[in-house]
Amino acid sequence: MNVPFVDLKVQYDNIKDDIDSAIKNVITETAFIGGKYVKKFSEEFASLYGVKHCIPVANGTDAIYIILKMLGIGLGDEVITVANSWISTSETISQTGARPVFVDVDEYFTIDVNKIQQVITSRTKAIIPVHLYGQMADIEAIEKICKENNLFLIEDCAQSHFSSMNGIRAGIRGIASSFSFFPGKNLGAYGDAGAIITNDDGLAEKMRMFANHGALIKHQHKIEGINSRLDGLQAAILSAKMSYILEWTENRINCANCYNNLLKDISQIKLPKIRPNTKHSFHLYVILAKDRDKLMIHLKNKGIETAIHYPTPLPFMAAYEYLGYSKSDFPVVYNNQSKILSLPIFPELTIDQQTYIADSIKEFFL
Ligand SMILES: *Cc1c(COP(=O)(O)O)cnc(C)c1O
Repeated sequence: MNVPFVDLKVQYDNIKDDIDSAIKNVITETAFIGGKYVKKFSEEFASLYGVKHCIPVANGTDAIYIILKMLGIGLGDEVITVANSWISTSETISQTGARPVFVDVDEYFTIDVNKIQQVITSRTKAIIPVHLYGQMADIEAIEKICKENNLFLIEDCAQSHFSSMNGIRAGIRGIASSFSFFPGKNLGAYGDAGAIITNDDGLAEKMRMFANHGALIKHQHKIEGINSRLDGLQAAILSAKMSYILEWTENRINCANCYNNLLKDISQIKLPKIRPNTKHSFHLYVILAKDRDKLMIHLKNKGIETAIHYPTPLPFMAAYEYLGYSKSDFPVVYNNQSKILSLPIFPELTIDQQTYIADSIKEFFL
């Protein structure tokens, strides 16, 4: 049996008619840039989240950059974020001229709220928690820290579509929140795509303008901006997927529960813990495994594709050497680095595939 890490082809096969007609409409109507399909998707996404504004952008990285820039963050400022994430979270901080400040993770793989206070300085302007793997960071505690210290809260929701804490979805508490629709994300386009959601009218207008060369009306550039547009094809594809996304999220959670059952008796691995009072949307199912590298090879030989998110924590990357961190500054992330392993998870993953994966892991440890 072969199990891919993510199977986007089987998803396409299941909804082929919806996708094909969405693509055909955009082409026959030549609604490539801007236009009705981009507007339609933005409205649908805002409405599903119950927020006032959804600003469609080119990708999830731009989404973070646009939020930071339009909050006025730049040279001389510091922005706190988490040591384990995709580099978009921190490189966009640097792109504004500000300095990324990293914090170790807790037992849930998200920013350790007990270690935030000690890195806040007079230059700190914002905190960007990442709801990594679909797991909510302790957003209520972070919101409190932001209020007490007068900091902006920006949620990186690239991996957490429809995760929630106490019934409030990831992306609702921040002044603005970024989403990615990279093909492999829980809601994925067929190319690059992203969005920002916010309830702040003034900020929404600025971000919309900045993402479109600084102009809300063509040729009237109030400021210099960037070109970060969601294209019509991607928007139409995303709209076609919107009617399935909540069901797909439940399927992911079912897959995770199935893994929990199948893997529970293997003492050499630790299963992902779910933060109390939260809904984990399982973008990734990440275990901590003994002999991780050898296990990965064993699974590969069995036709099972796994991955590591991420092999090198951000502060240990060559790109951040200049910040002068050492391994002992991030003991949890450092310890996890050689153990984390992401198993295949996607809405269409079958029980047979999961059983095969579990049996293959058991075989390795026997
Ligand atoms: C995917 C991702 C991004 C960036 O999204 P792109 O659409 O690829 O630019 C940002 N942050 C995190 C945590 C991500 O996983």
